[in-house]
This record gives sequence, C-alpha cells and structure tokens, in this order.
Amino acid sequence: MGETEVLQTLPGDDVRQILWRLADRYDLQMLVQSARSVARGPVARLVAEGARSSHDWTPQKAQLLKAFDDAGLTAAFMDPEQGGFIAGPKNLALALIAFELAWVDAGAATCSLAGNLGLSPIHERGTPEQRDTYMRRAAPVQPGESREIWRAAFSLTEPIPYVGVETGLLGGKVRIIEWEDGKEPILQVDKRGRFITNMGFANFVTAAVDSGDPRIKGSCMVILEETDPGVFDRGAPTKKLVHQLSSTNDPVFSLKIPASRIIGGYRIKDGVLVPSYSHGEIIEAVFKRTRVTVGLMTAAKLLSAVEPIIRYQRGRFRGGESVSPGSPRYELGLQQREDALHRLIDVWATGEAASSLGFGAARLFDELDPLERQKGEVFAAQGVTGSAQMRAFRKIQKDALEFLSLAAAPESARDPQRFEALSEDTLVQYLVKDALAGVLCPACKLWNTGHGANMMREAVSLMGGYGITEDCPGFLGQKWMDAQLEATYEGPEAVQRRQLSVTMTNEVFLAQFKDWVLEMRAIAARKPGTGACTLASAMKLWLWSLNYLLQGTDADGTKLYLGTRQGVTFALADALCWLLASRYQILDLLELEAKGPENPVLAEGLPGIFQFLTDLCHVQAARGAGEVGRICAELVFGYQRHPAWDGECACAEPDPVDSLLAGKGLGELPVIKAGPCVRFGGMEEFVRLRAKLDGCLTGMRLAKDRAAGALTKVMIPEALDYPQ
Ligand SMILES: Cc1cc2nc3c(=O)[nH]c(=O)nc-3n(C[C@H](O)[C@H](O)[C@H](O)COP(=O)(O)OP(=O)(O)OC[C@H]3O[C@@H](n4cnc5c(N)ncnc54)[C@H](O)[C@@H]3O)c2cc1C
Repeated sequence: MGETEVLQTLPGDDVRQILWRLADRYDLQMLVQSARSVARGPVARLVAEGARSSHDWTPQKAQLLKAFDDAGLTAAFMDPEQGGFIAGPKNLALALIAFELAWVDAGAATCSLAGNLGLSPIHERGTPEQRDTYMRRAAPVQPGESREIWRAAFSLTEPIPYVGVETGLLGGKVRIIEWEDGKEPILQVDKRGRFITNMGFANFVTAAVDSGDPRIKGSCMVILEETDPGVFDRGAPTKKLVHQLSSTNDPVFSLKIPASRIIGGYRIKDGVLVPSYSHGEIIEAVFKRTRVTVGLMTAAKLLSAVEPIIRYQRGRFRGGESVSPGSPRYELGLQQREDALHRLIDVWATGEAASSLGFGAARLFDELDPLERQKGEVFAAQGVTGSAQMRAFRKIQKDALEFLSLAAAPESARDPQRFEALSEDTLVQYLVKDALAGVLCPACKLWNTGHGANMMREAVSLMGGYGITEDCPGFLGQKWMDAQLEATYEGPEAVQRRQLSVTMTNEVFLAQFKDWVLEMRAIAARKPGTGACTLASAMKLWLWSLNYLLQGTDADGTKLYLGTRQGVTFALADALCWLLASRYQILDLLELEAKGPENPVLAEGLPGIFQFLTDLCHVQAARGAGEVGRICAELVFGYQRHPAWDGECACAEPDPVDSLLAGKGLGELPVIKAGPCVRFGGMEEFVRLRAKLDGCLTGMRLAKDRAAGALTKVMIPEALDYPQ
C-alpha cells in the first residue's frame, strides 16, 4: 500500500455527499448543516446539562421545538404551497435530518419526526381539504402571520391487552351519536393510547379506532383536536429509560367530532358510513416510509461513536513519568492492542453498511413516491379500485419480470422497443420499485436497529467504565439504550421479520436479487478487495436455501416455509438483511470511486479514504457471509433427522482431527485440504456452496488488519464539536 493510500482524516461531508448521493442536491446539503447546528448546539447542550434525567416534558425541552422550526426542520416535511421549501419527495431529506439529530441524541430526532408521523396519515391518505388544513397549521409561522404552530401525535398503540405488534386488536371505538337528515354525522370517539410520542404538547392526534356501531363499517383513523368537546387527557408521562428528549404519555380521549375528521373521508352506502380507508391501510402507507428514518438513527450513532473512541484509545496511557510524547505508548495508547482496533473496525463497518442501506432505502422511496401517485391516477382513469387493483397487478407482474430480464440482458441482445415500452410503463415501474421497497424498508428497520443496538454495546464496551456513565464522550451509553427503543417503536423486530418473510419471496423482488448476484460477481472481477465475491457467494447460498425451504419439509413431513413457522422465515429474513446491507455499502463505495475524483477538495485524501472504505466493505461482507452461512446451515440441516438416530452417523467416521483427541500436539496435526465432509443425501450442493463461501473469506482478515492500521494513523480533531 502506497503512502497516498493511508487514511488521513475521518470521512467528511464531501465524502458523505457522494456516498449518499446528495452531491448535486444543494438544498439537502443546507438542510444537513441546519440540522447539525441544532443537534450539536441546543440538543447537545440539553443532554450535557442533564435534561435527560426527567420524564416530564419541561420548558427546557420544549425549546427544542422552536429550534427545529427556526432551522427549517419542521417545514422540511411540507410542500412549498403548505409552507415548506422542498418540492417533490422528501424521504431522503427527512432521513438526513434524523441522521444528524441522532448523531447527538435520538430522542431529539424522535421529537422532530413524531410531528411528521402524526401528520403522515393525513399526508398519505387524507382528503385534499384535510391535507391542506392540517399541513398548513403544522407549518412554521411565515413572516406576517400570527398563529400558533399545531403539533401532531400519532396514536395507534393501546393499553394492554389491546394494540401493540398486533395492530388489529383495536380497543378504541367510534360510534355515531347524532345523524340528522341531510347533515354530517357526529361521532363519539373513545380511545386510550399507550406510549404516545409528542403527547405532552400535541394540539391534535391522528388516532386508530374500530367501529363500535353497526352504522359504521370496519375501522378507520380519525383526527382529534385538543379543543373538541369531551375529554382530551394527555395522561401521565411514560417512565422511559430512553429518548428522554421526546415526550411520551398514555393519553385518554373521549371526544365528539364531525365525521369529516375520518382520514380519507367516507361514503354512505345503504345507511352505513363506509370509511375510504381502514386503519390498517393507512398505517401500512405511513410505516412503509417512516421506518427507514428510524433505521438511520441507529446508523448515525454507530458512526458517531468512532471519533470519541479513537480519542479515548489514544489518550488512555498518557499518564506516568516514563510515558513521554512521541513514544508508541503515549501516542497510541490502547491502539497498541489489536483487539481494541478490530472491534472498532466492526462498529465502524456496521455503521457504514447501516447508513448505506438506510439512505439507499430513502432514495428508493423518493423514486417510488411519484410512481405511486401516477399509479393512483392511472387506476382512477381506468376505474380500477380496491381488490381489482390487486388482480390488475397480478397480470402486470409478468411484464415486470420481462422488464427485469431485458434490463439484465446485454443491450445488443434485447428488443429495444419492448424494453423502452416497459421502461415507460408506470405500472410496471411501480411494481418493480414497490417490490424492492417492500423488502428494503423492513430490512433497514430490522437490521440497522437490531444488529445496530448490539454493535452499540460493543462501542460502549470500548470506552471501559466510562461507556456506562453519563459522562461518556459522545453519550455512547445513552445511545446504546436508545437504540433498543428504535428497534421497538414503529413495530418491533418481529413485525419487520413478519413483513420480510412475505415480501422477500415476491418473484419481482427475487428477480432483482438474482441480478445482484451477477452484479456482485462483475464488481468482484474488477475490484476483488471489496468483498463483492464473498457477497455474491453468500447471496447464492441464501437463494439456494430459500428455494430449498420453500419446497422442503421437516423430518415429520411438515412444510418448512410457512407463515406460522417463524423459526424458518424469521431467520432467513435476518440472513437477507446482512446481504442487503453489504450490497448497498459496496454500491456506495463504487459511487465514490466514480465521482470522488471530480471533487478537487477530495483529491489528496481520496486514495486513502477509498482504500479504507474498501477494507470496511470487505470486513462487513465477510461478517455478513458468516452469518448467512450459519443461519442457512442451521435451517437446511436443522430440520432433518440426524443419521445417528438411524444408526449411520457420518460424523463418527475417522478424520485427521481424531489424532488430536488421541493426544497429539497441535503442531502435529496433519494439514488437510478443505472439502465437504458430510454425506447427507441431496445436500451436496449446499455443502459445496458453503465450502465455496468459506473459501471466499480469503484475505478478509488482511483487510481488517489494514483497516485497523489506518485507525492508528488517522488524524482526528482535538475535541468533539459538541458539548459534553
Ligand atoms: C418511547 C416509546 C414511544 C412510542 N411512541 C408511539 C407513538 O407515538 N404512537 C404509537 O402508536 N405507539 C408508540 N409506541 C408504541 C410502540 O410502537 C409499541 O410499543 C410497539 O409497537 C410494540 O408493541 P407492544 O409494546 O405492545 O409489544 P407486544 O405487542 O406486546 O410485543 C412484545 C414482543 O412480543 C413478541 N411478539 C409480539 N407479537 C408477535 C408476533 N406476531 N410474532 C412474533 N413475535 C411477536 C415480539 O418479541 C415483541 O417485541 C411507543 C413506544 C415507546 C416505548
């Protein structure tokens, strides 16, 4: 490795803008700066002053709302005509805000985003009047205006034994209490909420309720205002251990509202009020997007841990008269120890992969949003509604698969007219992107927060005792605990795994996944050090295992891939997440390779950053491949009857390791060539793929050593750029 390929500084904004594709989005770059000034200013001061030590929503914490408004973070959710400043889709914008705020404190990020979550049912499925009214009220005050900004909360979860993971278990009820001829019905809404964010100050709530009246069909979501007649009781603050810069309460509502507050409107059929959308349809549209942002909060924490840990490690052994500046002990401190470096590399690589996956998902939703609107227009023009849309999509699926196979074929080998026609077909394009979004969103929420929380524990452990104190630089202890909430709210991991177990078997997704194997092979041929080869092999193993499990049965002849068999489906969903995270990390790296040289600011440091990020990709791909190998092996073999039970265990056959058991020393063990050593009928292919995968790990520890070496040389600032 040449001198130029040494990592000089931590990757800054110029690198991040390329990796996460906002190099040509000046508006987003400005938004990042605004969010950062709030995070590293007022938010960090609140945490440093100990504001997290109370459950209550205090005037001190409430200052955050004004800071968000003043910095443009509140308005970022709105369209320009509603008082916002970003035209078009805003998923990437909101993801960047969440990332910046969570870099310091995810409770503050949640506080900022919960207002959007409260508005989202109206934004996604509200009538034009509802959208106009509430989005405008929630927009920050414009010059010349004099009004209060309305804050929103989203109320789905109910006290036990009602709604939690199972969103169908609604205890909240809506009834008709007045319905004069020719007039709008008046509704009585009774709903209790549990753990409702923003509830300490929200002026209105979007609440999920079920019909408690034969004159109302099914469930719906309604808008409740604090001045509606009846009870709008904010309830007691939740005694959270986490995210104390957001407000969470258990509210009680018993209110009279006009039927026009049903989100999305309603029609009257045979004397029955039929809401346009069930609560399930609305929350699906909402969470489809918002969960990506949550995943990015944990990603931010992992990356934010790098600098404080390096600083801690370097300064750890500076005491004592014999330790003089310039000596390795003084300059490197704990960084003289390989394990401390290797573990930090694991934390960093996870943070990179989680960010790449999250921002990749956010960008995908920015592409999907306009297609979704156009899809609605196409179906409306054709008069296709409700379940007829599902039937229509079943026919379009064939076209979507054809489009994907043409897209994967060399240009010379495909029918250009057909390809162009399918490329411009809104419904085909929607189906292709929606299939991917249906996987990426839960994958990002599940892996970033779940595995991310585990890796935050690693980060905390690297700070020793400090890690679990309030004084820990970078607030790492709080970030670790906070990560567990991110894994829980907006649907815990079980919800994401359940969704993945359905969406990852969608043929339109799988067709894209198969192309990725070839894509990774091609990258590996050009850039072997990225881990793309390992990833391609792990993808093949996963695909083989999925195929086997979809068709296979266990030792008792029961089907393996069933919705009820979460031991199979959930584990396979976990395995897929590792693959996705690595793929997006590698693709971001290639973007840096392509665009980095165009940026003169980067020129000097680019080779070092590129080499380092390449090594992180390699380390992460290998770690992911190991997980995939383990999970797939457990699933493929784990449901078979062990041959020993039938008296013919292949494991009992002699092999070279037996000489060790017989008392030989380690050095005396004969070196054996790797190769499949089990002879399970029909599994040879799996064994071959797995052995190949192990072989693909070649060089990954060298990459880790190289990356660890870079950690000892990289320059970091003298101090963190936010108060501690
Ligand atoms: C600080 C905080 C803020 C929140 N903010 C809001 C908010 O603003 N609005 C709102 O509506 N809600 C909010 N929530 C609620 C949150 O979304 C729920 O807590 C979460 O969805 C899980 O529901 P539950 O706690 O009832 O868990 P349960 O439904 O009891 O699930 C507990 C566990 O059981 C297992 N499990 C449950 N069902 C299944 C299944 N089908 N398959 C496999 N395993 C399963 C899983 O391990 C799961 O994690 C908040 C929660 C907290 C803690």
